[in-house]
Amino acid sequence: MSDSPQAASPAARPARTPRPRPKRGEGQWALGYREPLNKNEQAKKDDNPLNVRARILHTYSKRGFDSIDPADLRGRFRWMGLYTQRAPGFDGGKTATVPEEELDDRYFMMRVRSDGALLPPATVRALGEVSRDHARDTADITDRQNIQYHWIRIEDVPAIWERLEHGGLVTTEACGDSPRPFLGSPVAGIAADEIIDGTSALEEIKRRYIGDPEFSNLPRKFKTALTGHPSHDVAPEINDVAFVGTVHPEHGPGFDLWVGGGLSTNPMLAQKLGVWIPLDEVPDAWAGVASIFRDYGYRRLRSRARLKFLVADWGVEKFRQVLEEEYLHRRLVDCPSPETPFAHRDHLGVHDAKDGTKYVGLAPVVGRVSGTMLVALADAMERHGVRGARLTAYQKLVLIGVDPDVVEELVAELDAIGLQARPSPWRGGTMACTGIEFCKLAIVETKDRARRLVDELERRFPDLDTPISVNMNGCPNACARTQTADIGLKGQLVMHDGEQVEGFQVHLGGATGLGANFGRKLRAHKVTSAGLDDYVTAVVTNYLADRTEGEAFAAWVHR
Ligand code: SF4
Repeated sequence: MSDSPQAASPAARPARTPRPRPKRGEGQWALGYREPLNKNEQAKKDDNPLNVRARILHTYSKRGFDSIDPADLRGRFRWMGLYTQRAPGFDGGKTATVPEEELDDRYFMMRVRSDGALLPPATVRALGEVSRDHARDTADITDRQNIQYHWIRIEDVPAIWERLEHGGLVTTEACGDSPRPFLGSPVAGIAADEIIDGTSALEEIKRRYIGDPEFSNLPRKFKTALTGHPSHDVAPEINDVAFVGTVHPEHGPGFDLWVGGGLSTNPMLAQKLGVWIPLDEVPDAWAGVASIFRDYGYRRLRSRARLKFLVADWGVEKFRQVLEEEYLHRRLVDCPSPETPFAHRDHLGVHDAKDGTKYVGLAPVVGRVSGTMLVALADAMERHGVRGARLTAYQKLVLIGVDPDVVEELVAELDAIGLQARPSPWRGGTMACTGIEFCKLAIVETKDRARRLVDELERRFPDLDTPISVNMNGCPNACARTQTADIGLKGQLVMHDGEQVEGFQVHLGGATGLGANFGRKLRAHKVTSAGLDDYVTAVVTNYLADRTEGEAFAAWVHR
């Protein structure tokens, strides 16, 4: 028998000091990791995703669906706001087990970015006509202020782009690892209580950087919000980068900079830099933050490739230092960060604008409109001389520049086509993502389920005297912001009578604004889709019976 150390029994082996394991890189370009570490990074390196536009225009739209390179179809098309939609016939139970190519329909979802812009009547009409002519009359207002179509054929994409671009609208980088559509205050420039109008900054960021190859290969999606309204009406806490109106005691109105917010599976609230940035310097600051994300963002694991993970690891002081020293080459001005008030942010109803006109917030049900409805809206806007419309971060829209003399007539007309200015709290406070009707990742149906929930809750609680938000999502992704609603519903399969059926994990008491909080995930609280009406009824009945005077739903949950 050998007496070498190798032959000793493990128990007799002397203890060794463990060698430190070499730290694996996160794929940060700025640290020299330029070789792709996963297939998404490889695809972006193989060909700049923006190049797919030319192939769509000159090849795929002429030769048809079967001519599309799979790497474009399931990858680069996203940079043009195009996803294949879910093929009919796959239920939620199959979503995780069916290969992606089998889930692909031969039709596309198309996302049109509005970026907080004012849409004049002619543009609203164009959006509606595109829907009627090319999208089987589908159109949803999303919570990122997009219009989303379905049933788009590749052959029709060039004609659609031409019509949209005529109205200043694009689908460029509406999806993909890129600067996604911006959220802007729907009442920018017209609200009497506005701190600062950020419209020109958003327009300039879009003009300079959307479609710019310098920012078309980010580690993952990059979401921007900007508001100068004191209600913080663009959910800035949960965006990668947000500019939020603030007043410096000497310099006057400007913007604080918040970074690293985001939802999905590791929700984090944005961190506030506590600075003051003047309006005309916002585009540079935006480019600095986007550049940090591009250069230092984590690219090894998709699950860590959002800015929030870098901000969490660095801390806000280091983030500011890198921004100032490496990208802006100047110090930012200190300024205390504004607190977000606990306020309604949807602008529903009729309000006075500072120019003597009115603005009117309108609610479709869970953002679902149609081409026919948009054309009818454009007709009404033209007839009554309305200046334009903006989409909101709550799947609603706001009409701007309404003559006070015609406002009630207009409100009545729009009510008749399904756009309510004075909706019930349920209709005003409910959002739903795309869900299983079209989304390949969905586990459950959402839009129609949420619409039926709204109808039922309006019947059961006709006199509800307080807003209660309900956000319904079709899977663990949080496209409709599960964690920030009073009642957040995350689609999943749940057991019922020994069978798996469509249902939801419930989060209660989420909020943005003052006391921002992510909803409590209550493990035992899973509800079948069929049992949802009764579940919400029970929770709300308890709240109404137990609340103290003025106590909001989220405060009651976290009591
Ligand atoms: Fe699709 Fe899930 Fe997003 Fe809903 S939350 S749109 S189901 S990915």
